[in-house]
Amino acid sequence: MSGARGLSLLSGGLDSQLAVRVLQRAGAEMEAVCFETPFFSSAAARKAAAALGVPLTVVDFTDDEIALVENPPHGFGGAMNPCIDCHTTMIRRAGEIMAERGFDFVSTGEVMGQRPMSQNKQALGVVEKGSGLKGRLIRPLSALLLDPTIPEQEGLVDRSKLLDIHGRCRERQIALAAEFGIVEYPSPAGGCKLTEEGYGRKLKDLMNHEGLRTRRLVELLNLARRFRLPSGTGVILGRDKGENTVLRGETAVGTVLAPVNCPGPTALVPEMKSPGDVALVAEMVAAYSKCDRLEGDVKVKVVPKGAQDGAGEETVSPARPYDRTKFMEWQIC
Ligand code: SF4
Repeated sequence: MSGARGLSLLSGGLDSQLAVRVLQRAGAEMEAVCFETPFFSSAAARKAAAALGVPLTVVDFTDDEIALVENPPHGFGGAMNPCIDCHTTMIRRAGEIMAERGFDFVSTGEVMGQRPMSQNKQALGVVEKGSGLKGRLIRPLSALLLDPTIPEQEGLVDRSKLLDIHGRCRERQIALAAEFGIVEYPSPAGGCKLTEEGYGRKLKDLMNHEGLRTRRLVELLNLARRFRLPSGTGVILGRDKGENTVLRGETAVGTVLAPVNCPGPTALVPEMKSPGDVALVAEMVAAYSKCDRLEGDVKVKVVPKGAQDGAGEETVSPARPYDRTKFMEWQIC
């Protein structure tokens, strides 16, 4: 009983860590793979792989995920999370690595019945079929509730060491974590921005207007307030010094507006849909500025998209009064 080499999907969550340990106990030599995008980071997986002592391959999954958000064959979960298709595609990518690098199987920490929509028996079957890994995909935590896979049938993985965990109760996983000495793991639900309703609103708005093909605009969804003006112009408005500093450096993806004579937010506008919007966004910047003690009007510097060496820069001065309530109805998140 040895010689089986497995590649396990590792998110860093407890179940994915347990999957590695259970398969090692069943005689397999394990490595891990994780996927990263602007929607979820690989930090927890990197930490878990180091703690487990297994080699980790990190795959940039952004293009795959964006294509699925634009067109999810099995639809979305509670927000903009195309979980069934996302999971299927990750397993397919892992299968490609399996074929390239001579692994015997791919494994995951899925538990049957844990998530009503994406981890019921039918969904697990859909994922296995869609991934093209039929017979080579092991879910060690629920394996005894599923048909034996090829490595189990061939005796490369000891099926008697695999488990029959079912449902949402976490007691057995917690006990197993103690048995394996796994002490650090993030909460099962956290980590993926696509499952957050507020984030989903921002993402949908970007998809419907500027589209998702400019990766930097997708990455910037993680910060700042969002507004959509009546003309269709989108505005990304910094909330603090750190965000303002980031937005000031984004002239490659949009026009940047910032106050010059008082503290206040930086605005990034990917595309001005109407000529009057420069003045409107300058007014927004003034309205969100700390200009109470300023005598006279706020001056706002406008740096056009793609400008180099100060070309096309201008300073505009929206007239008082500055009223935030005017802009609040256009705020998305
Ligand atoms: S929670 Fe996010 S990363 Fe996980 S399967 Fe769903 S969409 Fe993919």
